Amino acid sequence: MADREVYLDNSATTRVFPEVVKLMDRIYLEEYGNPSSLHHKGVEAENRIREAKQIFADILKCSTRNIYFTSCGTESDNIALIGGALANRREGKHIITTRIEHPAILETTKFLKEQGFEITYLPVDANGRVRVADVEAEVRPDTILVSIMHTNNEIGALEPIAQIGEAIKRRNPKTLFHVDAVQGFGKAYIYPKRMHIDLLSASGHKIHAPKGVGLLYIGDGVKVRNILFGGGQQNGMRSGTENVAGIAGMALAAKMIYADLDAELDKLYRLKELFLREVTAIEGVHVNGLTGRESAPHVISLSIEGVRAEVLLHALEDKGIYVSAGSACSSNRPHISDTLVAIGTPKEFLDSTIRFSTSVMNTEEDMRYTAEALKELLPMLRKYTRY
Ligand code: PLP
Repeated sequence: MADREVYLDNSATTRVFPEVVKLMDRIYLEEYGNPSSLHHKGVEAENRIREAKQIFADILKCSTRNIYFTSCGTESDNIALIGGALANRREGKHIITTRIEHPAILETTKFLKEQGFEITYLPVDANGRVRVADVEAEVRPDTILVSIMHTNNEIGALEPIAQIGEAIKRRNPKTLFHVDAVQGFGKAYIYPKRMHIDLLSASGHKIHAPKGVGLLYIGDGVKVRNILFGGGQQNGMRSGTENVAGIAGMALAAKMIYADLDAELDKLYRLKELFLREVTAIEGVHVNGLTGRESAPHVISLSIEGVRAEVLLHALEDKGIYVSAGSACSSNRPHISDTLVAIGTPKEFLDSTIRFSTSVMNTEEDMRYTAEALKELLPMLRKYTRY
């Protein structure tokens, strides 16, 4: 085992902030009531949820009535798409999304297609950006929903969400706009109303809160059919006893991040720039997507000539460095990345792409150590790699 640990897989999941653990510990051990109970312990739990809603409403500049809690980003995406499609099917059956969405969207649209909906998959440019004109050209009178991610999880492409929102509403004011902001929330200022967003998904474990909690923003007057049936919690939109500790933990993590977002973004972009400067000097290393402020602050995707990603991943692991091969947050299955294919990545790189994803917990020293490890490992691995 290496003495050093450098965790660069923050797009897969993050380490929980100690302050969040402390708060959750207190809720688990002392404030453990069910928010639906009428007694004091229930009210205490309900207050935690109310406070959490207020924190998210302040960050997203919306009302607390727009905030719903789920179990993860995947669940938020499922409710938005399935619930949105079912509630609006009388208006039409056409849904638009992109080729570079997370499986939480792409598998859900596959299901909706089986249910009789028509799905249009938009292409992206070589940097993974959706063209606003393409969205505009595809929105029709029977388009009920458009779902486009805020930040791509594999190459860190930032989509022009506000312009897309405007274009959708110009073409058809009734079309709902869903944004999967699982990678963007906590890394950008996102204001649904101003950006014409009707539905927005976020996830706790990507922002230093625990796994098992997600958020769904639903705009005023937006029709969504509930897809879980039960006790009617959260206005019947999402039955099931709320994960009070997780919700309070996610709210605290978000509050901490947004209290100082500009400084955190400066730090992440500095780490990215430093790392890219070092690694692009190595022969046969290619950066996927844009860099600098036109890209996500925390995602760095490199295609490396002559080295298989999985081999490199394990060689880095031996040095205490944790990264992902292509995209890793979906499953352990070998999987050809939809994003890399969509941006036109040459075939020989599909299997040679590594994602480094940072968080505010990383340091310049982490990035230098990782760059040095690459400089040392790549020539060695190339010597032994046979295709
Ligand atoms: N959407 C995007 C863009 C993601 O990156 C992820 C997870 O990596 C998800 C959705 C799913 O989120 P969760 O793991 O909370 O279900």
